[in-house]
Amino acid sequence: MLPLAHIASALVANKLAGVMADVDDGPAPAVLGALLPDAIDKSLAWVFRVAPVARYAGHTLIAVAAAGIAGAALKDGRWGRALAVAYGVHLLGDLWQHGHVPWLMPFKRYEEESEPWAVRLDKATLVLEVVGAAVIAVYARDYARERDGARGQRVETREQSG
Ligand SMILES: [Zn+2]
Repeated sequence: MLPLAHIASALVANKLAGVMADVDDGPAPAVLGALLPDAIDKSLAWVFRVAPVARYAGHTLIAVAAAGIAGAALKDGRWGRALAVAYGVHLLGDLWQHGHVPWLMPFKRYEEESEPWAVRLDKATLVLEVVGAAVIAVYARDYARERDGARGQRVETREQSG
């Protein structure tokens, strides 16, 4: 999966799991959770060259838990849950097309699979990206309506009380 499909699946999962963050936070925890695992591991492997493969410590259940705890500590429990769900859904998405995820690292040893620098772009992956872009567009439209509705209610409340 590529970034748009990861973000779209995180948005859908957060909505289905009922952990969508507050309308003021918007999609921030979902987008962050969708992108963090690759930002961490691909940086460690490809930029800093300290990880042997591009799915490493950031692609584990411990990382999912750490993301949730960090999100809850930095914002609140709802934010932490939304971040953890999005992060976990990224790892599930990486199983797409027989992908490899080292879920139980460091408690289990994995045969290190090297991954080429180039991103594999086949037809199925591109179709998934287009579907992902469509899902994100629908979400963005709904989110804008919801946010504007919430702002409108706040203005009305202020006008009534003032
Ligand atoms: Zn990944």
